[in-house]
Amino acid sequence: MDIVQRFLEYTTFDTQSAEDTGKTPSTDKQLVFARFLRDQLEEIGLEEIELTDEGYLYATLPANTKKDAPVVGFIAHMDTSPDASGANIKPHIVKNYDGGDIELEKGGLVTSPKVFPELRQHIGEDLIVTDGHTLLGADDKAGIAEIVQAMVYLKEHPEIEHGKIRVAFNPDEEIGLGAHKFDVEKFGCEWAYTMDGGDIGELEFENFNAAAAKVEIKGVSVHTGYAKNKMVNATRVAVEFMNLLPQDEIPELTEGYEGFFHCLGIESACEKASMHFIIRDHDAPKFEARKRTIKEVAAQLNEKYGEGTVSIHIHDQYKNMKEMIDPVYHVVDIAIKAMEEAGVSPRIQAIRGGTDGAQLSFRGLPCPNIFAGGLDFHGPHEFLPIRNLEKAMEVVVNICRIVGNFNE
Ligand SMILES: [Zn+2]
Repeated sequence: MDIVQRFLEYTTFDTQSAEDTGKTPSTDKQLVFARFLRDQLEEIGLEEIELTDEGYLYATLPANTKKDAPVVGFIAHMDTSPDASGANIKPHIVKNYDGGDIELEKGGLVTSPKVFPELRQHIGEDLIVTDGHTLLGADDKAGIAEIVQAMVYLKEHPEIEHGKIRVAFNPDEEIGLGAHKFDVEKFGCEWAYTMDGGDIGELEFENFNAAAAKVEIKGVSVHTGYAKNKMVNATRVAVEFMNLLPQDEIPELTEGYEGFFHCLGIESACEKASMHFIIRDHDAPKFEARKRTIKEVAAQLNEKYGEGTVSIHIHDQYKNMKEMIDPVYHVVDIAIKAMEEAGVSPRIQAIRGGTDGAQLSFRGLPCPNIFAGGLDFHGPHEFLPIRNLEKAMEVVVNICRIVGNFNE
């Protein structure tokens, strides 16, 4: 079976996760795919295969060398985003893409390079696309296909020497719960890579520092006819609060390493208001400064309207994994080398969000993220250039070989 067939086979499983079901995995259908994968890993001849009741699948490709090599792992997630249907996915292949619009279904939805300019990077390639009714699920079944195919390849090419390799497939990444029940100790790797990035060459080991802030505003409600010098309209204070924050440090005006404040929502009346913010910055000192800024705004309004008018509660959500990667930077160097040997130019970029790899890194498993190859995921415009799929698999194989010689 080649990697394209393997990927297409995986897309026949609906593995959509769901928010707030209170169980792990969040949906039973993920377990159906997990069991299928477990059986497939057995057929391939992997060892120490274990599927937990919570849908975490672990397996080993044993070392084929006497060399003392670190144990390295590869991780991908089985679920697809709750944002779009993952049922009855009917992918088709656009051969030798000509740079024009792609009609996903006759007379139906069109993916145009005018809206998705990244398509132009893939002119002349074969692309796997959807029929316009579902997402494709390359996020992250491409990652799974690449890892599994790399294991098959290594089995078939015993001349490539490698140490012990571990693989893991987890549920519920898309609802932010992929890492929390991941058994880092059982996985037993010195470091690992998530195969969950986007376009070819992507390599990520920095993400945001993140906090959430809840702002509560107490107003004084008085009959409007008798309100003079008495009323404090909590809605107006909420607007004032918004306006006192740096006006250009918001998601819609920032990129790269620029941090932001983002208002998720406001509920308000004259008597009381509550506001929810998220605070994001890659840089730890700047992140702390942002948390101070939002507290200072609260203090300023309390001075104006009276102590206790505005109260603020901030809690940290996740941290930038860079501080855990920097001391073991060889894990990045190895990924770069593996890409270069596959003829892929690495594109290091900072994630403007969080990642399972960040959580795992802070739990003692340094875990950069490598491209899985899909683009424009979480909707029907998702597509996967076949070359990306093949190159990502080659990168996995190269990493195994390079790590096999790590201590030589
Ligand atoms: Zn993903």
